[in-house]
Amino acid sequence: MYEGGLMTECLKKYDVIVIGGGHAGCEAAAGSARTGAKTLLITHKKDGIGQMSCNPAIGGVAKGTLVKEIDALDGVMGVVTDHAGIHYKTLNSSKGPAVWGPRAQADRKLYRQEMQKLILDYPNLEVFEGAVDDLVLSSQSSVLSEVITECGTRFECKNIVLTSGTFLRGMIHIGKEKIPAGRFGEDNKTEKPANKLSESLMRIGFQLGRLKTGTPPRILKSSIKWDELDEQPGDAVPTPFSYIVDEVKVPQIRCFITYTNAETHQIIRDNLYLSAMYSGEITGLGPRYCPSIEDKVNRFADKERHQIFLEPEGLDSELIYPNGISTSLPREVQDKYVRSIKGLEDCVITQYGYAIEYDYIDPRELKNTLETKKAPGLFLAGQINGTTGYEEAGAQGLIAGVNAGLKAQGREPFTLDRSEAYIGVLIDDLITLGTNEPYRMFTSRAEYRLSMRADNADLRLTQKAIEAGFVGEVRQRRFAEKIGSLNKLNEVLQEVSLTPFQAEKHDIKINQDGIHRNGKQLLAIREISFEKLKSIWPEKLSGFAPKIIEQVEIQALYAGYLDNQDAEIKQFRKDESIKIPEDIDFFEVDSISTEIREKLNRLRPSTIGAAGRIPGVTPAATTAILVFLKKRGRTKKVA
Ligand SMILES: Cc1cc2nc3c(=O)[nH]c(=O)nc-3n(C[C@H](O)[C@H](O)[C@H](O)COP(=O)(O)OP(=O)(O)OC[C@H]3O[C@@H](n4cnc5c(N)ncnc54)[C@H](O)[C@@H]3O)c2cc1C
Repeated sequence: MYEGGLMTECLKKYDVIVIGGGHAGCEAAAGSARTGAKTLLITHKKDGIGQMSCNPAIGGVAKGTLVKEIDALDGVMGVVTDHAGIHYKTLNSSKGPAVWGPRAQADRKLYRQEMQKLILDYPNLEVFEGAVDDLVLSSQSSVLSEVITECGTRFECKNIVLTSGTFLRGMIHIGKEKIPAGRFGEDNKTEKPANKLSESLMRIGFQLGRLKTGTPPRILKSSIKWDELDEQPGDAVPTPFSYIVDEVKVPQIRCFITYTNAETHQIIRDNLYLSAMYSGEITGLGPRYCPSIEDKVNRFADKERHQIFLEPEGLDSELIYPNGISTSLPREVQDKYVRSIKGLEDCVITQYGYAIEYDYIDPRELKNTLETKKAPGLFLAGQINGTTGYEEAGAQGLIAGVNAGLKAQGREPFTLDRSEAYIGVLIDDLITLGTNEPYRMFTSRAEYRLSMRADNADLRLTQKAIEAGFVGEVRQRRFAEKIGSLNKLNEVLQEVSLTPFQAEKHDIKINQDGIHRNGKQLLAIREISFEKLKSIWPEKLSGFAPKIIEQVEIQALYAGYLDNQDAEIKQFRKDESIKIPEDIDFFEVDSISTEIREKLNRLRPSTIGAAGRIPGVTPAATTAILVFLKKRGRTKKVA
């Protein structure tokens, strides 16, 4: 590891330089390094690597599936969470596996430490402490690009991954107070914004937009009246996020719940004009689905109360994160409204809530590898692309880092489509639709969510990643073992069978249609459990691990539903497989409007499917493009 110093000559050459050690940056750096690319991570502070800017929690509905997918691609977020998770809960566990949302609250300090341990020791990866001020991009593949820090240290590389989070011209708002900063650090001090980097991006030709997000105040644990509050229990046995972690060994803690009330709402309403968000101080749009308490009170005026989860920030932390009341109201108003809440009457606020505004780049500037179209060799990931959330950032970081690494070595890109992964949905939404508010993932965004579940992310993705060459030995071995066990159990289930008459003898009621049903078909009947089948064939069905049994049960449960979806996926893949060459001028395509031509020329979709998903591009227009490509003999199928 280097320490930043005053230097002007070019220091060292790398295949890939990742800028920013947040959630996107850690996945990008590790991902690039796993491809074998010589990688450098430059970030403000080594000690800030893996810092959780806001809520110390990972996962949730859809977000949890993203973490499982990151893990399936041998990323770091799942493993680190399993070494720092202090309260695990599978959200929606009473519903079907397709909407299960694994979530874990982390010990903030432990998460950061575990991430640092991993990143600082990662093969092929070096870390440099410093602030990047400028990028000098090369337009020729034979000439390297340069990354220049504020001290004048210069590094050369083939590809750059920029993951600067909320730091680009970051501006913190607390009431009327404005503080130029990237965020508040864990030491309660502000971290400096990356203003010059914004200028550098504008010089390259990117237009920057503004977005905002917010965080709640933090509360001193000992000042809360815990006896008056209800407990929010976690899962009895925490289920690890990572497919290569067998057990969560971190001690588990208790969380509690409280609610806002009429008085809280009145205080907020009376002071709304003082909130940075409502006084016109902030121009950027905030996350609609993660609203501030001002927003909740204003937009959902008929709601009598809003829930607040009181989440300890760590095993030995004195801080409580009140999840659900992010705010940009002045400090004195925060004191007042927080103390109107049950259990918090005498509470001490240790850090006030704030909103932050920052620059982002329209993600329609990106290809599905997250490389910018305008500046080949420059990849973007995380909050800079208009998303919010650690999981969304990590997912993009992994794809950008892996592709930057693969490209540096002249290897084929690695991409995921909407039918393979939530990561594919996330990236496709961003690059085809863009966003003007912080984008977060939901299950409803994924058309094929019945097959893209949290439980099967490894079965969907790990083999593909192994073939692309960026999966470590441990995961490869564990994956092969799992596939071996799954195949074995499936074989046994196919061998055993019952007639309806035999089934009745075992107290299993099925149609008396004379049809032999094998174990898998029996398991697909909701009332028949694996345990029941095991009681019939104990010697054949014993000895399988609970995870393998659960997977086979889930597969059986969904088998019938997936037939219809498979047909839709086939059609989707057909359109997705027809590639549109990068040099097409859409103005040459007959029978489409000028407006559509302009849009297509600007957004440059890479496939017929992607073209069809651009708002305003009609089915007739995609047919016209197809005819045009065929006439010119330019239809090429993607492998
Ligand atoms: C106040 C606040 C509230 C938030 N609220 C929510 C929320 O409610 N829900 C939610 O899901 N998410 C929320 N988030 C967002 C969440 O923290 C981010 O989505 C996530 O951290 C983004 O990850 P990232 O890797 O893109 O950026 P970050 O985690 O911000 O990491 C950026 C990294 O880049 C480094 N860096 C930046 N510029 C430079 C430079 N020029 N040179 C070197 N290093 C640089 C920084 O030091 C940092 O390590 C909030 C964030 C903040 C700050």
